[in-house]
Amino acid sequence: MHATVTGLHHITAIASDPKRNLDFYTKVLGLRFVKKSVNQDDPGTYHLYYGDYSASPGTILTFFPWIGIARGRPGTGQAYATAFSVPFGSLAFWRDRLTNLGVLHGNTESRFNDEILPFNDPDGLHLELVATSENDPRPPTPSADVPDQFAIRGFHSSTLALKEAKPTAELLTQGMGYLLLGQSGHRARYTVGPGGPGTYIDLLTEPALPRGINGAGTVHHIAFRISDDTAQVAALSSLEARGSEVSPVIDRAYFKSIYYREPGGVLFEIATDGPGFAIDEPVETLGTTLSLPPRLESRRRAIEAALPSLT
Ligand code: ZN
Repeated sequence: MHATVTGLHHITAIASDPKRNLDFYTKVLGLRFVKKSVNQDDPGTYHLYYGDYSASPGTILTFFPWIGIARGRPGTGQAYATAFSVPFGSLAFWRDRLTNLGVLHGNTESRFNDEILPFNDPDGLHLELVATSENDPRPPTPSADVPDQFAIRGFHSSTLALKEAKPTAELLTQGMGYLLLGQSGHRARYTVGPGGPGTYIDLLTEPALPRGINGAGTVHHIAFRISDDTAQVAALSSLEARGSEVSPVIDRAYFKSIYYREPGGVLFEIATDGPGFAIDEPVETLGTTLSLPPRLESRRRAIEAALPSLT
């Protein structure tokens, strides 16, 4: 018995400036701002969500923007790079676009059968565009700035940097249903469920890399998707039976979550596909109002007044 996850659900990272973060992900990358909320544990700060038009699982990148927080250090024990899937042949467009907008990027690389363009967000978060030779049937996100034929389709993969990959690989394969797909140098690629872009976890064994330190420009946790509440409860039991310390189920309004730390140090979450981001705003107007969990609704005016402007 293992947790029956079907791919990536969302990835949450740390930023230092909410307005700059919003501009980068919506205007430079052409993602949709799908939810404006607050950090449930710290309602004086935002929780910002970007994704495709319908805020589908597998496309959602979220940020805790803490104004003025120090930069972290990307390193081992972290989700080291977050990769988006873009159509094959689109990297020339993206390279020109990033250059013209003053975004630092690396040279195009080949990895497995794909072309990769590495770059950083304004806080130094490691991002990649993967122009994949595989079929990615997910729709492009409509954007005023990025034509559909080049647009991001959702996540491609998350790369975990590790001192030693074996215990993490065992959790993925024995505890979460992942299969080893291929190996290239220090990188091993795993896939789950239907396979394809949006399901991949790459384990990068880099013992010489320093241990990562959380802060702006680093990933806080990665979340895997699971079909429903019943499968999630089963996942919790099977992970505990393997010896993981797993949180109880936490209701995050748009999904339910359990959390556990993989042996290399990366915080994992398993989140349900439903009920989704349209429970408190229609799909057409996602991200246009401040969404608060019910327990914070009575404090809306004070919370809104304390949050920095995003415009
Ligand atoms: Zn999460």
